[in-house]
Amino acid sequence: MATVKARCATSSCDVSQTVTGSNTAWNRFQLREELVQVLFPDLSAAQRELVMGARNGYGYYCASCWDKMFPSEDEE
Ligand SMILES: [Zn+2]
Repeated sequence: MATVKARCATSSCDVSQTVTGSNTAWNRFQLREELVQVLFPDLSAAQRELVMGARNGYGYYCASCWDKMFPSEDEE
């Protein structure tokens, strides 16, 4: 299994998380052979963000930072 680790991209935030997936899926994703949702179908949207952030080196936004950046606008 591959362990993918990424740190929250918010400089003031110290959260880092890991996601595990198959080595094959991670290798293929790094080679950009397939989309993240195809290679990691079992991950949540937030976990996929983490995987993408780990690949491109930008990190990702943890759940609490994400909520701050994108306040819920579910109400119509
Ligand atoms: Zn954060």
